[in-house]
Amino acid sequence: MYHSISVSGVLTLELHALNNEGAEGNTMMTRMVDIIDREGRKHTVNAISGDMYKHIIVEHLLAESRSAGLPLCKGCGTFDANRVCADKDFMNKPGWNEKTLDSVILSGLLQRCVIDDCAGILITGKIGKDRSIARKSCVEVGWVVGRPDAVTTDSYFHAKYVPEGRSEGKGSSENLGQNIFHRPASSGQYAVVMNLDLYKVGRNDITLAYDIDDSGRRQRIAALLRAAISAFVKPTGAHRNTQNPHVVDFCGVMATSTTTQPAPAVSALNPAYESEIERIGISLNRLSTGSNGIAWKKFGSLAEYAEQTAEIEREVGAP
Ligand SMILES: [Zn+2]
Repeated sequence: MYHSISVSGVLTLELHALNNEGAEGNTMMTRMVDIIDREGRKHTVNAISGDMYKHIIVEHLLAESRSAGLPLCKGCGTFDANRVCADKDFMNKPGWNEKTLDSVILSGLLQRCVIDDCAGILITGKIGKDRSIARKSCVEVGWVVGRPDAVTTDSYFHAKYVPEGRSEGKGSSENLGQNIFHRPASSGQYAVVMNLDLYKVGRNDITLAYDIDDSGRRQRIAALLRAAISAFVKPTGAHRNTQNPHVVDFCGVMATSTTTQPAPAVSALNPAYESEIERIGISLNRLSTGSNGIAWKKFGSLAEYAEQTAEIEREVGAP
C-alpha cells in the first residue's frame, strides 16, 4: 500500500486569470508574489495560491465522491466551505455531551465525510462544550508559482457593448449601461508541489487508529487520486467562462513511498529538481537497508501524468 505520493512539476498555462486579488476601479488585479532564487535574487511573479488549488482539488473530490457513492456530510454535500461545521445533525448528534472525547467526535467525522477526512477541517463550535478539534489534511498543495523569466501578465481592455444604453445605470453599482473594464491574462511555466499523505486517509489524528476499514480507505484514496488528475486536466478557478486556461503541458516527477519515509519532492523553481529527486530517492532507499520503498518516475506530458496516476489508482482501488 502506498504511504505517500509527491508530485513536483512544471505546469504550462496560457492566458488564464484563475486567481485574482480583487479590483481597483474597473481594473482587475491578478495575484503576484515575491520569490527569491538560489542566487538570492528577488523576482515578482504571477501565482495561483495553494488555497485556490486546494479548492480546485476538493471540487473534483466532491464530484468523484458523489459518483462513487462515498459518504459526504451536509456541509460538503453543498460545497459549503465550513464543511462539517455546517452540518447541524453532526454538531448536535444525540448522545454526545461535554464528556465525549475529542477522539470519538473525530472518529464520527471520518465516518461521516470523505472530504473532511481527506481535505481536513478545524471543528469549532459547541458539541457538549466549546471545542476546537483539528483534522489535518491528507492533501498538501503549495502555491502554483511562475518560474522567473518564464511567466508574463498583461492587462487587456474589454467592453460590454450596449448600443442603446450607453448612459444607463446610476454609478458603478448598477451594471446596466455600456462599460469598459480591464482584466489580466497570465501565461507561463508554473512550478507545482503537491503531496498526498495517503496513510492519513481514515486515520484518527488523536488515537492514530484507522476508523475506516481497508476497503473504505482504498475507495477514498482512489477518489482522491482521480481528483488529483482532474485538477490539472480542468483547473476550475476564476474567469473560466471567457478565459478558460489553455493547459499546454504538465511535466515533472511523481515519487511514491511505501514506507514511512516521505516521497521526495523538490520544487521546479530549482532547474535541477528532477535529478535532485532521483538522488534523494537513491539515498533514502539506501538508508532503509535496501527496502526500495521509494520509487520515482518522470512524466513528460499531462497525458503521462494522468496515465501514471491512473495506474496507481487502479492498483489501490483493486485490492
Ligand atoms: Zn464534510
